[in-house]
Amino acid sequence: MMNFIMKHKRTFGIISVVLILLAAGGVWFMNNLPDFAVEALINKMVSSNQNAKHFEEDGLYVITTGTGAPLPDKTRVGPQTVVLAGDQVLVFDAGPGSTRNLELTVEASSVDALFLTHFHSDHIGDIGELMLKRWATGGSAEPLPIYGPPGIEEVVAGFEAAYQLDVGYRVAHHGEEAMPASGAGGEVHRFDLGSDLMSSDVVYEQNGVQVIAFNVHHMPVFPAVGFRVNYRDKSVVISGDTIFTESLIHHAMGADVLVSEALHHEMSTMVSEATRDIENNASIVAEDIKDYHITPEQAGIVAQEAGISQLLITHILPPVPVDFLTDWFLADTREVFDGDIHMANDGTMIKMPVNSDDITIIDLFK
Ligand SMILES: [Zn+2]
Ligand SMILES: [Zn+2]
Repeated sequence: MMNFIMKHKRTFGIISVVLILLAAGGVWFMNNLPDFAVEALINKMVSSNQNAKHFEEDGLYVITTGTGAPLPDKTRVGPQTVVLAGDQVLVFDAGPGSTRNLELTVEASSVDALFLTHFHSDHIGDIGELMLKRWATGGSAEPLPIYGPPGIEEVVAGFEAAYQLDVGYRVAHHGEEAMPASGAGGEVHRFDLGSDLMSSDVVYEQNGVQVIAFNVHHMPVFPAVGFRVNYRDKSVVISGDTIFTESLIHHAMGADVLVSEALHHEMSTMVSEATRDIENNASIVAEDIKDYHITPEQAGIVAQEAGISQLLITHILPPVPVDFLTDWFLADTREVFDGDIHMANDGTMIKMPVNSDDITIIDLFK
């Protein structure tokens, strides 16, 4: 090898000089980009709603803008699902970080309503951001309608209080015309399904889009609900956080898509054991959370029994450390469910045009 290098020393020298010059040229070029190139890149970034082209057909669009859970995950923010149906843009939960992903998907100002499944922090952490962004970007004079079970008044009031100073700064800076103070915050729509696990109610009807809330089982968290959205011949069910329950199967019956949370028991046990000697609550939490979440396999059973064709797994617990473990995470689900299973990513979209059997799945952020 040494002989080879000595023999071709001159050639290596020339190649090195050329490479250094090329690198230097590249750095010089990047530092001296012509204005038109920078402008073109900025125009591409700000061209409002770059994803609009995906939403042209009349149909039901389901986008998982947040697919994580409370445990830190480099690739997943807190849980959120956005449903576009007809002219309605409906948002389900507002997990930490989800508003940024939502804004990479649809205009925050286009959101018609937010629906909350329960009040665990991973589902509500971004309510303040969503209320603020919808108002500040679109200048709405009406606050964001927020639907949820009892407890919603104090949760929304708390976020409004925390953001009150910021709202004042923005009105003072940009003026009442651009940001009318009346549009900041939320407009609470409380619904009460009582304690009967099987109970449900229509909580929203607008321009052909119907949203049904139904009780799920996430004890000791009560109330906790899931949602079903019906639009023309399409429907999607969002599980919320729940154990395997007859209520979820019943209310998912005949839907096209089930967006289900999932906690892998065996993996959670491994996390609990791996963190046993660490002096924090990680081990206890990884063990305790197994008793109030559905497993990927059980989500498959729900989808199978409800006659669903598309199962979208979200709220993934524990975080899957590498992509190739996804198949392992879903192996038991494939045993019990005949339809299509997708491990949702932040930005995964299922598109279903009305009066058609077409189903398209796109990762908007990839
Ligand atoms: Zn959760
Ligand atoms: Zn929860």
